[in-house]
Amino acid sequence: MSEHHREHGPHRVGQVKEVTSLANPIVKDIKALAQKKARDETKTFIAEGLKLVIDALELGWTIRTLVYAKAAKGKPQVEQVAARTFAKGGLVLEVSEKVMSAITRRDNPQMVVGVFEQRYATLKDIRPKAGETYVALDRVRDPGNLGTIIRTADAAGASGVILLGDTTDPFSLETVRATMGSVFAMPVAKASVGDFLRWRKDVGAKIVATHLAGAVDYRTIDYGKQPVVLLMGNEQAGIPDELAREADALARIPQAGRADSLNLAIATGIMLFEARRHLLSLEASA
Ligand code: SAM
Repeated sequence: MSEHHREHGPHRVGQVKEVTSLANPIVKDIKALAQKKARDETKTFIAEGLKLVIDALELGWTIRTLVYAKAAKGKPQVEQVAARTFAKGGLVLEVSEKVMSAITRRDNPQMVVGVFEQRYATLKDIRPKAGETYVALDRVRDPGNLGTIIRTADAAGASGVILLGDTTDPFSLETVRATMGSVFAMPVAKASVGDFLRWRKDVGAKIVATHLAGAVDYRTIDYGKQPVVLLMGNEQAGIPDELAREADALARIPQAGRADSLNLAIATGIMLFEARRHLLSLEASA
């Protein structure tokens, strides 16, 4: 088979496609997923690493394309994932390291990358119960913060993350990387402030908003009786008044030292582990 035919010829189901050229149209489409526009249009995203891809498939996420580096060829786990991808009607590409670097924008890329369909939870389907904790993020901007929060919410046993207003994309390369796989485990919903406030009334959740002017020490709040939504503010502006007014409590984490505030992801982590303190034990996680 000529190089040209191999790279551009028709794809047959169940057949691995070998690609070495950055000009290959499929590679171009996958590379474009580094841009939000392409992710929005295709409603897909990239997840890097064999473990992540296996976890995602186990959790029922739909894979469109599996890409692996030549060096990973023949590894039993890679073969298994390739077979599962074919079984779901997906595409499998074997690529050069150069192509892998271009897709992941890294010098030392992972051996395996999956293109998955995006998935959002919808607020109207979330009916929180007592003992459940949600994190609502007002206009979160930083991809690293969002990824870290999704990962930490997962680790603390929270039930979901709700993105309010115009936020950074949970499916960007940087955010997905920072979640370390938790993006596949933690439901993420998007909502306007209006819809969020209506939902909260409807389901009877307690909103604990964190605020630098909060009068309540976050350690004195009862997180046990109702489902709790921890509301966190934008990195620059904090929580706007219209949201702060709706909170059941305005909580503050006491600080010492010169820093004006904590990083958003750190503050969220502190709140999550306090709100779920009564539900977490070393025995349960052993
Ligand atoms: N300049 C912003 C302000 O005035 O609110 C700072 C925002 S801070 C970097 C980002 C978010 O982290 C805050 O909106 C709040 O949700 C949370 N946060 C940070 N430090 C906090 C603290 N000491 N107590 C409560 N929340 C805090």
